[in-house]
Amino acid sequence: MRTQRLPPPPSALRGRIVVAAVAMGAFSTAFAGQTLQAAQLTNRADGAATFDGAGGDGASAPQVLTVSRRTASEGAAEAAKLLRSQQLTTRREAADAEHKRPKFARPTVGDFTSTYGARWGKAHLGIDIAGPVGTPILAAADGVVKDAGPISGFGQWVQLTHADGTITVYGHVDSYSVRAGQRVQAGQQIARMGNRGQSTGPHLHFEVWSPGGQKINPLTWLNDRGITV
Ligand SMILES: [Zn+2]
Repeated sequence: MRTQRLPPPPSALRGRIVVAAVAMGAFSTAFAGQTLQAAQLTNRADGAATFDGAGGDGASAPQVLTVSRRTASEGAAEAAKLLRSQQLTTRREAADAEHKRPKFARPTVGDFTSTYGARWGKAHLGIDIAGPVGTPILAAADGVVKDAGPISGFGQWVQLTHADGTITVYGHVDSYSVRAGQRVQAGQQIARMGNRGQSTGPHLHFEVWSPGGQKINPLTWLNDRGITV
């Protein structure tokens, strides 16, 4: 005979169940203390004076009964409160991680083969970093993909626009893994090193365009942001 099984609850739900269970436990413990105090007061008011509240057996039964009646609603409220507090903690941790996350990254690893400036009698307005075809190429900073695809000269490129209007350019890429309009974070892989277009060996040609449109020295730009190549 076939038995039907319920699928396991999604992880988010399991998390809430755990929180609720912890909350019920915490509540029960806290409430038991309140009940003990209440029992002491009642006993003294009644003038019975046989119970001093220091763990006497007589206090056990009324405590258990009172807790079981009130746990359902107040325990649920306590669980909801703890869940809210856990959500705040999660949000705070996310904000903390975002704060600590590096905001700039070295675009690739490899041999620095060409600087910014004059080369072979003509201006070279970027830097070249050489390595094997397929070496990961990373976003140098948080940004949005302006273009990713074929382009004359570079064969294929990726262009990123950053918050202040700076544009970074990654040329000769063998392949790219982002599309125009996509948001990327510093250090996120966007492409792989290649030898496409006018290139004499696999390398990354990296450019930085200032918000004003000037092709500035990428090495200075990276160094100013704590990145060495
Ligand atoms: Zn170059």
